Amino acid sequence: MKFNFMVEKELEDCRWKYMSFDWYKEPKNKNDWLACSECGLTPRIWEFDNGRYANCVCGIDVWNNKHQVKAKSIMYYYRKNGNTIGYDVDELRKNWNNYILKLKSKIKING
Ligand SMILES: [Zn+2]
Repeated sequence: MKFNFMVEKELEDCRWKYMSFDWYKEPKNKNDWLACSECGLTPRIWEFDNGRYANCVCGIDVWNNKHQVKAKSIMYYYRKNGNTIGYDVDELRKNWNNYILKLKSKIKING
């Protein structure tokens, strides 16, 4: 059992390596993010002043993620509103979870 676990972990690391840039990190509140219904993994995220992104390991390579979800960046929000009051720090997670729920319902309808 321990062996299987190690192989699975290695496979997972491998998928991340080829499907996601190094700077994408696991979110702190990992359990609050829905797992992708295709690859079964919760996403890794990249948040910086000018962007917020989440992706899983579905797709072709690091440049072509099948499921990539965005949220408004803090700089965008600041430029638009002149301040950061009301900026939703949790928007990326909400967008991701909504996206996965929609994906799941689509699969149900088609399948
Ligand atoms: Zn996936």
